[in-house]
Amino acid sequence: MTAPTKAPTAHSLPSYLQADHLGPWGIFLQQVDRVEPYLGNLARWVETLKRPKRILVVDVPIHLDDGSVAHFEGYRVQHNTSRGPGKGGVRFHQDVTLSEVMALSAWMSIKNAAVNVPYGGAKGGIRVDPKTLSRGELERMTRRYTSEIGIIIGPNKDIPAPDVNTNEQIMAWMMDTYSMNQGSTATGVVTGKPVDLGGSLGRREATGRGVFTVGVEAAQHIGLQIAGARVAVQGFGNVGGVAGKLFAEAGAKVVAVQDHGGTIFKEAGLDVPALLKHVAETGSVGGFAGAEVIANDAFWDVPCDILIPAALEQQITAANAGRITARLVIEGANGPTTPQADDILHERNILVLPDVIANAGGVTVSYFEWVQDFSSFFWDEDEINRRLVRIMKEAFAAVWHVAQENKVSLRTATFIVACKRILHTRELRGLYP
Ligand code: GLU
Repeated sequence: MTAPTKAPTAHSLPSYLQADHLGPWGIFLQQVDRVEPYLGNLARWVETLKRPKRILVVDVPIHLDDGSVAHFEGYRVQHNTSRGPGKGGVRFHQDVTLSEVMALSAWMSIKNAAVNVPYGGAKGGIRVDPKTLSRGELERMTRRYTSEIGIIIGPNKDIPAPDVNTNEQIMAWMMDTYSMNQGSTATGVVTGKPVDLGGSLGRREATGRGVFTVGVEAAQHIGLQIAGARVAVQGFGNVGGVAGKLFAEAGAKVVAVQDHGGTIFKEAGLDVPALLKHVAETGSVGGFAGAEVIANDAFWDVPCDILIPAALEQQITAANAGRITARLVIEGANGPTTPQADDILHERNILVLPDVIANAGGVTVSYFEWVQDFSSFFWDEDEINRRLVRIMKEAFAAVWHVAQENKVSLRTATFIVACKRILHTRELRGLYP
């Protein structure tokens, strides 16, 4: 007879849900705590938001070109599916962690509800620096990851899309792998695909266009003229590059840009089309002629009117928030501002247009892509941009109104709008069983 097993000491190790450090998931939990007092009766469902519905961690083994085998850590987190299937991008980055993917999936729930597209929130990622892989290795890793998460994704279940370091080609491989496993072509399983494979016109530019659209709305509300406004952009890829281009076309001066290749500055305004060409050719802003190179940390001191963080999380912190000169911060990235920095910016009367509305243009056009795939009827680019601008402006107006009414930040206001929508559907659907 075996001795009765002694129960492990209760909670001797922290649950994965606990945020004893201020990682991305901890930041999300703080943001939920801030919104709770404004949820009325729906607050009794708030715990739903503090627990992702489903988390899948997968091993992704592949043959490297030299014949050896490498293993990568992959994730897919479905934070909430009360309003519809999970939706959110896939990130390939060497610093990806479970805490990060949990937070990113939760921010997708908020974002999708804020612009009222019929989705829940999800996110995926692989802990890898894709720049270290050959094209063949990248394809094998993408396909094996897709196959591993294939048990929980699908056009009606959870629809991945591009995020940091993933693009149309990766979406094409994901769509093909899922389709091969299913036995029939399923274009609606991912968005952000090449246009020739069921992708949507305007999707590639959609996030940057959304950043610009709501940025202009916010600027109007604080009496900031776009013509002549000085703009500083962190990250000059799909989001920052397109937003910078649109602001420059509207008469603003892009005075500083920072990316992984360094920080460049030009008081009179950079030649944005030339910079975009340089980045497309070389992969970063480093080495761009016609600009002064400044220290990376000096980016935060650059005199500007609009700051667009469009890179990674936790860039604006208590250490630099006091130095920012902008009147308006438009979050193109997900989670670029820590809660402490949020408070500092608020006290300094700097308006923060939060990620969960500012960068929602991408998923909005992903929704259009998914709808077009289901109906196999494709819209022209004007129609897509018109619908995108309308949704973004309406969402901004609703959030602005709630912020004024409750005297809260735009972030808390967006959370109020979104959490009420999510928790209302939670209540309508009821608990199963
Ligand atoms: N990765 C993008 C985001 O963070 C787009 C997600 C999507 O289109 O599903 O919003």
